[in-house]
Amino acid sequence: MKAHDGMYIDGAWRPAVGADTIEVVNPADEQVIGRIPAGTAEDVDAAVRAARAAFPDWAATAPAERAARLAALRDVLVARKDEIAETVTAELGSPLPFSQNVQVGLPIAVAGSYAELAATYSFEEKVGNSTVYQEPVGVVGAITPWNYPLHQIVAKVAPALAAGCTVVLKPAEDTPLTAQLFAEAAHEAGLPAGVFNLVTGLGPVAGQALAEHPGVDLVSFTGSTAVGRRIGATAGAAVKKVALELGGKSANVILPSADLAKAVNVGVANVMSNSGQTCSAWTRMLVHRERYEEAVELAATAATKYGDRIGPVVNAGQQARVRGYIEKGLAEGARLVAGGPESPRERGYYVQPTVFADVTPEMTIAQEEIFGPVLAILPYEDEQDALRIANGTVYGLAGAVWAGDDTEAVAFARRMETGQVDINGGRFNPRAPFGGYKQSGVGRELGAHGLAEYLQTKSLQFQER
Ligand code: NAD
Repeated sequence: MKAHDGMYIDGAWRPAVGADTIEVVNPADEQVIGRIPAGTAEDVDAAVRAARAAFPDWAATAPAERAARLAALRDVLVARKDEIAETVTAELGSPLPFSQNVQVGLPIAVAGSYAELAATYSFEEKVGNSTVYQEPVGVVGAITPWNYPLHQIVAKVAPALAAGCTVVLKPAEDTPLTAQLFAEAAHEAGLPAGVFNLVTGLGPVAGQALAEHPGVDLVSFTGSTAVGRRIGATAGAAVKKVALELGGKSANVILPSADLAKAVNVGVANVMSNSGQTCSAWTRMLVHRERYEEAVELAATAATKYGDRIGPVVNAGQQARVRGYIEKGLAEGARLVAGGPESPRERGYYVQPTVFADVTPEMTIAQEEIFGPVLAILPYEDEQDALRIANGTVYGLAGAVWAGDDTEAVAFARRMETGQVDINGGRFNPRAPFGGYKQSGVGRELGAHGLAEYLQTKSLQFQER
């Protein structure tokens, strides 16, 4: 795999200040596929300075021109989609068709949506005797995880650029090659120097330096709740804006009137997709006690069919963590009906698609985010009980409700403490706001709500209008 040995700062690839590097490993066969520089606080500082210097001109660029650059960026991603998909597969391990259709297909749609929004959004409106302006927040520090390497980047960088902000990106250390390709695409799309900058490196070094840098006006972070909490505290102390997309433990609520087989099969596919490494995955399936055993059987059959076709998890640490949770489920008395803690292959960080029945709401596997292909099925007595279980975690990112008709499902969904709910298998909408209630985060990504995160409001009052 091609890897740059420098940082993309101020429109060019520059040598890193330090000599340390990070190995990039293919999780399917454990081979080293590249080496990238481990950025330091000095690299971050150079990138933030470049972003600050570029900010006034980019902020003053007409929205139509910003839209044109975003459309060009989308076109470059389209032109290079095979190469990007192969890179995602090599460093993350997701099967190639999934990388092509979702890992690259989704961010192409998101980049396109922001090209359109930049051109059509009302950055200015009249309110009585005032004119209200939406102005860019400034320099954005974007810190992203590895699970959807390109999507997580585009979901931050595209709205930031549409708003008129400039960006320094610190991508996940497991998937930096995709981030380097994105930087190449930003360059090819003709973004002015300094508008987008990339610093690769470790979270506690480069990530922390970016989050703490006084020249950064907004930190947009996606990742674990533990790190998000620290970043929120740092930003709070500096009275700096912050957007946090954190973990989830989303409920898939199957009401008695639902088409059970469809709800269970789609639910299992949702959890196993990307080897369970999706923050919005419906990792808890809630089924009425009367149809519980039927659902368990359907889910076990569906999960077993996946075998190791789902691909590995991202690294050895994640594999150990997920297997630890499976062992914990067994120890706490849940009934294993598919999969288990043993790895299905000798090489590669694979985990079996695993399903637990007889899970109670208090069990660790019903409360904590596992981030692996593990489904917990919980029985409920009535709707009130289902709602209590669904809302009974610290998280609130996503979810699903299945019922005989949409009206019944919507009535339940409106009472869920969560940011996004799919009704009877509703499709993912890349223009709908995505983000968490409770400890799943602060702020929203995607669509017009995602753009608004990168804007601040100024009103001018006139004597007469
Ligand atoms: P993580 O929080 O460790 O890392 C996410 C990003 O933050 C990476 O770029 C990392 O380098 C950086 N980082 C780490 N420590 C930092 C620090 N002290 N200061 C600044 N930046 C720092 O998460 P991860 O290891 O990538 O994933 C683990 C967990 O994250 C998952 O189990 C899941 O809970 C969560 N996650 C959530 C989402 C989501 O979209 N909500 C996506 C991926 C992962």
